[in-house]
Amino acid sequence: MTKVIDGKKIAQDLRTNLKLQISSLFQKYNKYPGLAVVQVGNVAASSVYVKAKTKSAKEVGIEVIDHHLDENTNEEDLLKLINDLNNQDNVNGILVQLPLPKHINEQVILDSIHPDKDADGFHPLNVGKLSISQFNDENLLIPCTPYGCLLMLRELQTNLSGKNALVVGRSNIVGKPMAQLLIKESCTVTVAHSKTNDLKSLCLNADILIAAVGRPETIKGDWIKRGSIVIDVGINRIDYSVGENRKTKLVGDVEFSKAEERASAITPVPGGVGPMTIACLLRNTKIAFENKLS
Ligand code: NDP
Repeated sequence: MTKVIDGKKIAQDLRTNLKLQISSLFQKYNKYPGLAVVQVGNVAASSVYVKAKTKSAKEVGIEVIDHHLDENTNEEDLLKLINDLNNQDNVNGILVQLPLPKHINEQVILDSIHPDKDADGFHPLNVGKLSISQFNDENLLIPCTPYGCLLMLRELQTNLSGKNALVVGRSNIVGKPMAQLLIKESCTVTVAHSKTNDLKSLCLNADILIAAVGRPETIKGDWIKRGSIVIDVGINRIDYSVGENRKTKLVGDVEFSKAEERASAITPVPGGVGPMTIACLLRNTKIAFENKLS
């Protein structure tokens, strides 16, 4: 029978462990980790994410330092804030909520975060470390969404070594770091994208399929290899209005109802990867705190 992977439960277990670890670090050092959360402007989805991240951080014992800036904040002022946060002892992690307003260069801002405080794991130095096999993942700051996907795969206690893994999507925040993590697990990794020919054949050959496309149900149910593991990163809001009755719902990048009939394990949307992303942000903050103590 197909296992529907419960991201909420795995994330809850991770948060419970983090809370215990943070509490014992407090007993020893009399300090809590600090996470600076920087939001520029008022994009509704960003506000929802910031609220959820802040709530979860506080619940595990992370102190949140909130910086909500005006939409018109310029790049120079934002860089100055990041520089101040880089120098503050009580700040162990810095999270800049994306997207930033168009007049600010995101990469310039991400590069300005001190690599030791890079709660999202997007700094080029941390991206580089992830790709160098001599580093194991225990004290690395790793992009949260792909790391969350890896933890879900590990939870299945399947031997990943030698498996054909297909990552659909090559973004810097999901697809590419996901591929690096799977290479470390000794998977044979293929990365597909919008220019890929015959995506269906690649999917049918994938023992592990990670979908990070951002387009609703792009991966059809009959493309799924029987017995494979499917991790659906996509979060897409679609309209399913009936007549006058306007309704929307969230769906992933995989056609879940049909894929479920063929996969051995699959993540739902919502309730799959989403909760893991936040839990891994907390994990990075705790690691940044511990790295500084050691
Ligand atoms: P991006 O838009 O940055 O990247 C999408 C990737 O999908 C690109 O590499 C693109 O190719 C590829 N792509 C687009 N269309 C196709 C297609 N028809 N066939 C194959 N590949 C295609 O998105 P993100 O990586 O940032 O996010 C992906 C999804 O994951 C989104 O739905 C996002 O909302 C969700 N997400 C969910 C998170 C969570 O916590 N659950 C966190 C982060 C993201 P190309 O490079 O050629 O353009």
